[in-house]
Formats: sequence, structure tokens, C-alpha cells
Amino acid sequence: MTISIDMSAFDADSAASPVRNWTPVPHSPPCRLCGARLHSTLIDLGDLPLANGTSHRCAPLHIRICDECTLVQHAGEARSGTHAPSGPSVSAAQAANHAQTVRKRLHLTAGSLTIGIGTRSTELLRPFQAAGIPVFGIGPAPVAGIPNLDAVFNTGTAMQVAVRQGCADLAIADNILPYAPDLFDFAAGLATILRPNGIVSLLVPYLPALLQGTRFDAFCHDACTYLSLRVIEHVFRSAGLRVFDATRLPGDGGQLHVLACRAAGLHTARPGLKAVRQAERLALLDRPDLYSGFSARAAAARADIRAFLGNRYAAGRRVVALGATGRGIMLLNGCGIGAREIACAADPDPSKQGCLLPGSRIPVVAPESLEANPPDDAIVLSGQDTAETGPILASLRQRGTQVWALLPRIARV
Ligand SMILES: [Zn+2]
Repeated sequence: MTISIDMSAFDADSAASPVRNWTPVPHSPPCRLCGARLHSTLIDLGDLPLANGTSHRCAPLHIRICDECTLVQHAGEARSGTHAPSGPSVSAAQAANHAQTVRKRLHLTAGSLTIGIGTRSTELLRPFQAAGIPVFGIGPAPVAGIPNLDAVFNTGTAMQVAVRQGCADLAIADNILPYAPDLFDFAAGLATILRPNGIVSLLVPYLPALLQGTRFDAFCHDACTYLSLRVIEHVFRSAGLRVFDATRLPGDGGQLHVLACRAAGLHTARPGLKAVRQAERLALLDRPDLYSGFSARAAAARADIRAFLGNRYAAGRRVVALGATGRGIMLLNGCGIGAREIACAADPDPSKQGCLLPGSRIPVVAPESLEANPPDDAIVLSGQDTAETGPILASLRQRGTQVWALLPRIARV
């Protein structure tokens, strides 16, 4: 599918300023958004183990930024969107609350259809299903009890579902768009499966927040792009979709929740959309080096973390990590932290327990095992479900364990 790119849709001021005076990189693949050659680097983390893999194989993790449109992207071979994280991004209680709110707002009934794209989104369908609303999942990792098409989402898949299942009143795409190799094809697929007044609910890691919080752990081998509202609006507009609401969420270093409909849909723009648009423009005015200074800020943060954990090791303190998540693995490997500094990583997922974290080779244990032998320090890694770790942390604190977060800065929590 060929889609023309209207670059005038971008804000010219913010598009031009962040990437001046950067050192060109020798090989320059094309930008995934505008096709321009990529000459600038956001951050080059070198060879790192694949955080979502089971082996300790390493690959380059070089995140680039386009001089023309400022899209931040992994320019390596796309991993076809099949490696999107499968773990829940919200708790079951949050999912149920979200479902209840959306169901009432959209007046969903037994005659409606809700489609989940990717495993995380399909897991969110359970409360809809329990309320008697027909649901359908699209993704290579089916969720038990939810009817599913075992396929990566794209325009072809969307057509197949639209013909066989019908179109959606609500399409949920929770943390899946960044893993799509072709943003335009994904957006066209969304437009294909949406009923005339249907809604897309999209959740993504929010690039401006990740940059502001020095969240170098958010970059990984599997994600193709890192998105702002400006880019999402541009891509959706190309597919005949219109964003009508946007909300910043604090989880995982910063997320953006977007609601969109067809361009001619009846949903009017909500105040949150204007607020996030303005905040994106102001972010660059407040910090002109938001993009260009990120690599240096991340290097300083990594040095601080290495020194912090090195000092604790030298003092003979036993330190553990909470969460064998992809984000946590990236943070540890990005800092060169291993089993010397971190005795073990506790994770509630039984399939991870007994394994070694990729790269760092830190053993994974059940969280309950920490209660028998409380550590001196516990590091809370990103991506962990706080509903699961909260009670364990409370118990450890009572027994003298110091609990820490490492980003955006090292702090007791
Ligand atoms: Zn570009």
C-alpha cells in the first residue's frame, strides 16, 4: 500500500530544532515515517542481550532520530511485531474499571463488537466478555477463552477479520503500535476494522516522558518506533482517522492513552488533546536539548547506577531486584550490572523462576523467597505490576530492607 506523506502536517519549529549539530552515522537506513536517510543518533547502547529472548545472544541497539521528521526509531531489522510484550500492562482491577467506563461511554451491548490487537489488548477483553459483549482477539499468542485470529495485525489481517467477524465498535491497541514495522499499514488496518462511529483506544510508551525521565531502559530490540502525539496524529490522519482525546499516564516511565475515530466520526475533540499538544511543544522550549542531550544524560545516569550498586557491593550489602521484566533486564544490561551486584531477581511469573536473566545472568526467584531471607536493599525495576509487588515490599520494609528506584534518579521509595 502506498500512502503519501504530508510533511506540512508537522509542526515545523519542533520538527527542525532537536537534531541539529549531531554527529552523522556512517550507514543511513531510511526513516520509517518520511523515508529520509537517518543520519543522527538518539542513543547507541552497543551490543546488548535481547531482553525478551531466552538466550544470551547480543545484538546492536542503536536508536536513531530522523533529521527531517524527528521520528525516533530502531533502524535494525524489524522483528515483525511478533515480539510485543505479552505481560499485562495494567492489573485485572484496572482493566475491569477501564472496561466498565468504556462500555458505558460507548453504550456497548450484545450487538457490539470489541476487538483486541495483540496479547495485552486481548487480555483486556475479559471484562467485556463477562458483560456479554462479543469480543475477538488478533495476535500470534491467543488468550484462553477469547476467540482469536493467530496473525500479526496489518491491513490484510484487518480485512480478513472485518469480513469474517465484522467491524469493531471498540478496537483496543495496548502497547502494540511501537512494534509495528509499518506505522501506516497498522493505522490503515485500524481504519479497516472500525465501524463508522467506532473508537480506537491506543496506549503507547510516551516518548517525551521517556526522554524527560532519562528512561534509557525503555529502548529495546523489538520495538520499531518511539512515539509522540504529533507522530500518532500524523499517521492516523493518513489513514482517515482522527485523534479526539489524549491523556498522559504515569506508568512505566510515562505512557500516552489516545482515543481516535474516523475523520468524519461524531466524537468531538476533548480538552486533553489540546493540553497534550501544547505540552509537547513546550517540552522543547523548556529543554532544547531534550533529544540531543539524551545520550549524555543517560550515560550519566548509568554511571550513577553503577557507582550506587558498586558501593553497596563493596559494603557487603545483599541487594535484590524486583521484576524480571524486559525493562528491568534492559536497565541492568545497559548499566553492565550482573550477579555480583544483584543477588537475585524476584518475579511472580513461575515460568521465569529458576532461569537466569539474559546477559546479566542474575537468577530469578519467587518473591516469597525474599521473606525468608530479607535483603539489605531491594531495587524496584520498571514494568512490574505494583499490585503484585506492593505487599511484598511492605513486608520487606517492615523488616529493615531499603527499597529503591533507579530512574529517573536513584531514590528511596
Ligand atoms: Zn523521518
